[in-house]
Amino acid sequence: MIFITDSTLVWFRQDLRLRDNPALAFAAKLDSVIPVFIFDTACPEHCVPGGASKWWLHQSLNALNDSLDNQLHCIKGDASKLLIGLMQKHDIKRIAWNRAYEPWQIKRDTQLKQTLVAAGIEVQSFNSHLLWEPWQVLKKDQTPYKVFTPYYRRGCLSKSSPRMPVAAPKDLQIEYYSEIDNGIDSLELMPEISWHSTIQTMWTPGEKGAAQHLSEFLPDGAKEYKNKRDFPELGATSKLSPHLHFGEISPNQIWYAGINALNGNTEDIGLDCYLSELGWREFSHYLLFHFPHIPQKNFSPKFEHFIWRNDEDSLKAWQLGQTGIPIVDAGMRELWQTGTMHNRVRMVVASFLVKNLLIDWRKGERWFWDCLLDADLAANSASWQWVAGTGADASPYFRIFNPVTQGQRFDVHGDYVKRYCPELSKMPDKFIHNPWDAPQNILDYAGVKLGDNYPKPLVDLKASRLRALDALAQSKQQP
Ligand code: FAD
Repeated sequence: MIFITDSTLVWFRQDLRLRDNPALAFAAKLDSVIPVFIFDTACPEHCVPGGASKWWLHQSLNALNDSLDNQLHCIKGDASKLLIGLMQKHDIKRIAWNRAYEPWQIKRDTQLKQTLVAAGIEVQSFNSHLLWEPWQVLKKDQTPYKVFTPYYRRGCLSKSSPRMPVAAPKDLQIEYYSEIDNGIDSLELMPEISWHSTIQTMWTPGEKGAAQHLSEFLPDGAKEYKNKRDFPELGATSKLSPHLHFGEISPNQIWYAGINALNGNTEDIGLDCYLSELGWREFSHYLLFHFPHIPQKNFSPKFEHFIWRNDEDSLKAWQLGQTGIPIVDAGMRELWQTGTMHNRVRMVVASFLVKNLLIDWRKGERWFWDCLLDADLAANSASWQWVAGTGADASPYFRIFNPVTQGQRFDVHGDYVKRYCPELSKMPDKFIHNPWDAPQNILDYAGVKLGDNYPKPLVDLKASRLRALDALAQSKQQP
């Protein structure tokens, strides 16, 4: 069936919400809207969402569809081709979308816009995903920043305030055409095997779930953030990252909700620290925009000659949380069971893989990509490169996290370790992070048999640290 309309096709992508959705607000003001989501099969392989992300996306689309009175059109295929066909076949004269920032998305959208404009179609795009557009923040010499603090403080904060959020459209008029809706199930996002049963009891994907997390976090969470955020067992962070990734909430909504909750006191030390984490999110998108190779290549070319170990058994032990290093195992099991991992522990497990095991950061990045509900091309690649020491403004390679002292400092009584490694639940505080140092009578008391019901450490921490430093020294000698 062919229909002629004055409505705007609103192409939902990583903006799965009605509130603070500039493209939707624009379209709704003009006339009715045709809401469309396309699972783009023309996406490059390394950007295809992993298993956990697909699960989240399925739930999030259901939530969006509910808010749109079951009138979201869902299709799977090559997004550009599908849209050009749809616009022409149905004589739709206007399309609006919010910008997406992965390099392939930018390329796709630029080409698509040219084609549509040449065909006489009005194309409107908006920023809904970032606080500052990456191309607008440059140093005096017009080159991009590579260091976070000057980027954030001088380049962003001192130049302009983030855009104020816009309200959800009132009385949204939707045009729904069953012939262009194959339904959310047709996107085939749900896993074939049921690994997600725990995950689905813990999370509420969608705009409502995001708003709930935010309201639970503010105002006390922001005030306490700086003091508590590094302790994994305290649950003191906002847990908004998957909601942000899929655009169920915008960074602008969080920014201004935080400021309002603290009565405009941006000087509050906790709030400043929390907002600067949103700044790190911006910085990772900024880096990806200006240096689009970072998901696959070292940011720092110095590491091109670095010799990584090819050790599939150790990689597997790390993935399964069977390294024999309690905080690493707890983190990797948390990831598998819950689809997330506390930030401090992400740093520890990543450092252990890259430095103590000398395994290429890209292998860790891929595992996180598949398992994290908040897997995000920009944040994941920039963070892995940060820990590996190969990235922009990175922690230097020679700074190697000691998982035992990290555990003793941030999981003082081992509560976090015990939650995910119940086989260590009777270990006393003194040895919970280093059971291999415990005398036999303590191991017997705790029922821990190293190499039997809990692994012996995969590597000696001191020796593997020295091996990493040696590898770095050798790579520096390469031409
Ligand atoms: P909060 O502490 O409440 O922070 C608020 C928001 O700020 C987060 O939701 C997130 O959007 C952003 N943020 C916080 N820290 C960072 C950071 N270091 N870099 C970028 N953004 C940040 N974050 C992702 O969103 N996706 C990823 O794929 C991802 N991979 C990571 C891989 C490694 C090896 C490491 C060390 C960190 C990674 N992070 C990633 C960053 C960080 O761990 C998560 O954003 C954070 O743990 C999410 O929890 P939260 O929402 O409670 O964060």
